[in-house]
Amino acid sequence: PAVAATAAHSSARTALKTVFGFDAFKPGQEAVVDAVLAGRDVLAVMPTGSGKSLCYQLPALMRDGPVVVVSPLIALMRDQVRQMRDYGVAAGSLNSANDADENRRVWGALRDGTLRLVYAAPERLVREDTVAMLRDCRPSLLAIDEAHCVSQWGHDFRPEYLALGQVRAALGGVQTIALTATADAATRADIVARLFEVEPEVFVQGFDRPNLFLAMQPKGSARNQVAAFVAQRTGANGIVYCSSRKKTEELAEYLRGQGHRALAYHAGLEKERRDEVQDTFQAEDGIVVVATVAFGMGIDKPDVRYVAHADLPKSVEAYYQEIGRAGRDGLPADTLTLYGLDDMRLRRVQIEESDASEAQKRVERQRFNALVALCEAPRCRRQTLLAYFGETTEPCGHCDLCLQGVETFDGTIEAQKAMSAILRTGERFGTEHLVQILTGADTEAIRRFGHDRLPTYGVGKERDANGWRSIFRQIYAAGLIQIDIVQHGRWTVTDRGRRVLRGEERIEIRRDVMTAGPKVKGKAP
Ligand code: ADP
Ligand code: ZN
Repeated sequence: PAVAATAAHSSARTALKTVFGFDAFKPGQEAVVDAVLAGRDVLAVMPTGSGKSLCYQLPALMRDGPVVVVSPLIALMRDQVRQMRDYGVAAGSLNSANDADENRRVWGALRDGTLRLVYAAPERLVREDTVAMLRDCRPSLLAIDEAHCVSQWGHDFRPEYLALGQVRAALGGVQTIALTATADAATRADIVARLFEVEPEVFVQGFDRPNLFLAMQPKGSARNQVAAFVAQRTGANGIVYCSSRKKTEELAEYLRGQGHRALAYHAGLEKERRDEVQDTFQAEDGIVVVATVAFGMGIDKPDVRYVAHADLPKSVEAYYQEIGRAGRDGLPADTLTLYGLDDMRLRRVQIEESDASEAQKRVERQRFNALVALCEAPRCRRQTLLAYFGETTEPCGHCDLCLQGVETFDGTIEAQKAMSAILRTGERFGTEHLVQILTGADTEAIRRFGHDRLPTYGVGKERDANGWRSIFRQIYAAGLIQIDIVQHGRWTVTDRGRRVLRGEERIEIRRDVMTAGPKVKGKAP
């Protein structure tokens, strides 16, 4: 098999050059192609533009049976078919936009064994007659594009995707590759659970954007912080994201007052005005657009030199996508994200008040906690970011934390206090109740559980509740405690946590983030 694998590998390289005209694989492609050629099931998580399609197009040239590609968008399907034909590869598609003639031709070519790739919309593929006919053509591989559409927690859920697991079985358990650009752990786990019977080989690659400088700061005056950041980059193309329409207008006006060419953009503007802003940004230089997340979809300006967040984005993925609009040309670009307690509260309230299911809310809370952990990361920001996506890297030397380091203190005693509060209460409580115990708060719940009689009661009086919340987040990020998402966010202590508790290991805590942001008065917790 080793010899066969090597042979497959070298003929894949040859085909890469002779058929597609590419000199080398893009990052991540080679490992995925090798795994597919070795016959393994694969989940490939790679960003948009990283060349996912090649991971099944190339194997299609080297197999007997055709590759069946599931793709949700007819327009994309057509592009790919045209592209394959340009390369001289026989490809066709089955979709509702085809006329009867075209369908007959595709089935004919499939039966003759001349077609290498057949693209099908999921609603077409899940039909029994389609599956039965395809099975007779002995497909060699099922490729599921945009595989995150199977996840009900995503924004792109498509019910037909749920049936693809059965399609796979009906095609005789055909080898399968699922592909997506959506990388977080919850979505990955969901895709695996719904599409595969046996755990596939998972590849997560190519998310690093080394030319982007990453920085995050606690919010003081967001307006002044953003203005200073923009002033250092006067004349460069930039985007500043805000969480509300009103803020985009206020901040744009303020920046204009400082002499910048700043334009506001949000979904509340007339379509005409939105197009105007977008066209101006696209065509001219030296403009900063102050926008809500509505801005960005249709933008492909390569030389955006900076992206700032005046408010915290919604999730790590949103953060990644938004900063990713800078430096598409590969040249250095800067990012700055501000975060404050008000952002954090707002997001938590949004999650609790949404009409999502309890399971979905749990996932959303987890996603948001990951973003908070990124804000307060005690080491390289890029490492923390990529680790969230499932990639491991060395410290980057190109982020605020690598450059400046962070002011930390030995937080072993604090961690021990927090963890003994967790253990003394039987690992049954979440952050808020534990913070009340540590700060010695006198509440109804504390008295009802008799927690005012615990030895840990009030041992953390020297810090306020926000300080303790930060310590919980940080020891969570460091892997000392774990959240039980099934049971309402109760904390449990990990093995590493127990080592710290016994004094066998120490833990550094960041001081600068302990009291991040102004206090918000009169808002729900
Ligand atoms: P994705 O589906 O991941 O968004 P695509 O498969 O559409 O990305 O590929 C993005 C672009 O990269 C396409 O224009 C494709 O032709 C090109 N591409 C793919 N593989 C390579 C390669 N090995 N070398 C150079 N260009 C490539
Ligand atoms: Zn770094």
